Amino acid sequence: MKIIIAIDGYSSCGKSTLAREIAAQMHYAFIDTGAMYRAITLYLLRQNVSIKNTDEVKEALKNITLHFESHPETKSSDIFLNGENVSRYIRDLIVADKVSEVAAIKEVRQFAVAQQQEMGKRRGMVMDGRDIGTVVFPDAELKIFMTADPEIRVKRRFQEMYATNPDVTLDEVRHNLELRDYIDSNREEGPLRKAEDARVLDNSDMTREEQLKLALQWIAE
Ligand code: C5P
Repeated sequence: MKIIIAIDGYSSCGKSTLAREIAAQMHYAFIDTGAMYRAITLYLLRQNVSIKNTDEVKEALKNITLHFESHPETKSSDIFLNGENVSRYIRDLIVADKVSEVAAIKEVRQFAVAQQQEMGKRRGMVMDGRDIGTVVFPDAELKIFMTADPEIRVKRRFQEMYATNPDVTLDEVRHNLELRDYIDSNREEGPLRKAEDARVLDNSDMTREEQLKLALQWIAE
């Protein structure tokens, strides 16, 4: 029986999409840990907290409460920052441009990881991020490491962002993904790594249905 399914990988590989679909099939909870780092970043930006000042960041964390509400009927979920639904603000480029810098701060990671581990205690869970199989749940029953051709990832993320922000350019999205992958892979705390026992899923040429089918096969093994 797979209780915890950890999905890690590069930015815009479709981790959350797959995680959501697995969760719906399995009647598991789904947690998008990237949304947590994004909501923390949004708070710091709104409060003009200097990201370079660790003491200020540590103080600010004391005032942050995060929670998720899931909507199984639409396979979606919302994230709340101090009671406010911030789901649509956390996808803005202004947040995306700073989130990896914020997520590299040790105290921020401790804050987020402790909450993620707590959430995993309750029930079957699909969690996606960068360090789920390596740090948050090293004993997860199934670990998937997702990857895809970088240019395909840029185009996917561009289409997603263009829907809400027609001013965004392909170059801006490319730059943001390259920057985040670089910072996420090279930070000291919880760097983006494939866990040794993770299955690799390169979805460059796969449909959503094919990815779900493969993941369900792995779960059934
Ligand atoms: O998954 P998403 O692209 O929304 O994540 C946004 C950012 O949050 C990542 O680029 C990374 O810097 C950070 N993150 C992280 N660890 C996680 C999930 C996300 O550092 N487990």
